[in-house]
Amino acid sequence: MILKPYSPTKYVARLSELAERLSPQHPQYSRIPKEIGAIKAGDYGEEIVYKELEQMKLPYQSYIFHKMFLYAECAFELDYLIITPYGILILEVKNIIGELEFSTNPSQLIQRKDDGKITKYPCPANQLNEYKYQLSQFFLQYNISIPIHGVVIFASRNSFIKQSANGVKIIYRNEMRSYLRNLTKNNSTLSKDNMEQIKEILLRRPSSPPTIPLIDHFSIPMEDLKHGVKCKSCGFIGMHKIIRTWYCPTCKKTNSKAHLKAISTYFSLCKGSITNQECRDFLLLNNRNEAKIILSNSELVKYGKSSTTYYKPSHN
Ligand SMILES: [Zn+2]
Repeated sequence: MILKPYSPTKYVARLSELAERLSPQHPQYSRIPKEIGAIKAGDYGEEIVYKELEQMKLPYQSYIFHKMFLYAECAFELDYLIITPYGILILEVKNIIGELEFSTNPSQLIQRKDDGKITKYPCPANQLNEYKYQLSQFFLQYNISIPIHGVVIFASRNSFIKQSANGVKIIYRNEMRSYLRNLTKNNSTLSKDNMEQIKEILLRRPSSPPTIPLIDHFSIPMEDLKHGVKCKSCGFIGMHKIIRTWYCPTCKKTNSKAHLKAISTYFSLCKGSITNQECRDFLLLNNRNEAKIILSNSELVKYGKSSTTYYKPSHN
């Protein structure tokens, strides 16, 4: 049974918002498309695996969670976590094409593409071992000790593993079904009650990592961002506030709710709270009262009084 279905990484939308508000000449700009490309490739691999999981008829009860963000000795995020009667199973999905070689001492994954380009990645086998350890520590907080299995799945048909890693199960996507079926060869260690207990613990966990404003993550000064309200029709940033609406000087369209997106962009990129002054700066407003009306009507929660007033999103 799928309890947390696949969903694409929301961080991509935030990175795109950041790119829109940076000049292409900015020193940090080139990092963003690279990061978006890597995340989308990862998402694609996870989606392919998800489709397989959806279609599978396993000979045992299972609970499937996509992207579990958990915290033990440190924060960690699992591509898939599956509760089975034979223990917990972690699926670490990789969507890396070309000829792949796991090297040891130091451990890494070396990719050789058809054009001869070589790229090195952190070793997925090490990653998986670390996740298994962290997950065992996570459950120890609840006095639960259970077998934790793990497998690295290469999702693309265009991956060719020349040299595998020792001690970790590594499979292609088309081997998933038999791998999951073969779990029954292990002793069944979890009762139905154990499985329900673990399921409840995981369902109570927050579903995504805490949001860190992206300008902090990328060390970008606030003044480097393009300020202003974005026009939904043409993408221009810097709509003019006119009576009861926003006006785009580029495409001449108006949109009375255009500021809502700009405020959510502010929270995503800049800071977790906003004051009247910060709102005026970011939305390019010169009227304190107008900013006050906008902030009061944007489904935000108000904190503090008079000059110390600030607002936060209602879901925080
Ligand atoms: Zn426009």
